[in-house]
Amino acid sequence: MAEETNALHELLVDELKDLYNAENQIIKALPRMARKAANPELRRAFESHLEETRTQAERLEQIAEEMDFSLRGKKCKGMEGLLEEGKEVMQEFEEDTLDAGMIGAAQKVEHYEIAGYGTARTHANLLGLKKVAKLLQQTLDEEARTDKKLSSLAENVVNLEALQEA
Ligand code: FE
Ligand code: FE
Repeated sequence: MAEETNALHELLVDELKDLYNAENQIIKALPRMARKAANPELRRAFESHLEETRTQAERLEQIAEEMDFSLRGKKCKGMEGLLEEGKEVMQEFEEDTLDAGMIGAAQKVEHYEIAGYGTARTHANLLGLKKVAKLLQQTLDEEARTDKKLSSLAENVVNLEALQEA
């Protein structure tokens, strides 16, 4: 393996470890977000993305097996910060406004994941790891769909009429 290829391989492994840690942080955070959601459709969206996220973590395990490395040993500080900010929103707001804030926090998480998976997919392609790239693309597509779903929920989750009456 050429030196550059070696280094890119090492970078990809780091990226995958980071994503795996991020997914596991999300798996811990989503149940609380689902519980707090006032809007039932939003609650369902969080619950179904929790299931999806578990599958995404498994997909990374499959990739690690394929590439023969361990996923342990990395903390995704970016995700930690995003989830921390999400918690702040959850402490400060209630009802519809809490939903609106949680959607915003969740979309930041999705965008972060989309950037991470897009990068890792491209690097896997550059290394000729077609199967790995394909698995990463699958997750990337799921994250993009979730982001879209959240965008549409953002437009109707806040009941403006109720806010005006209050
Ligand atoms: Fe994910
Ligand atoms: Fe996600």
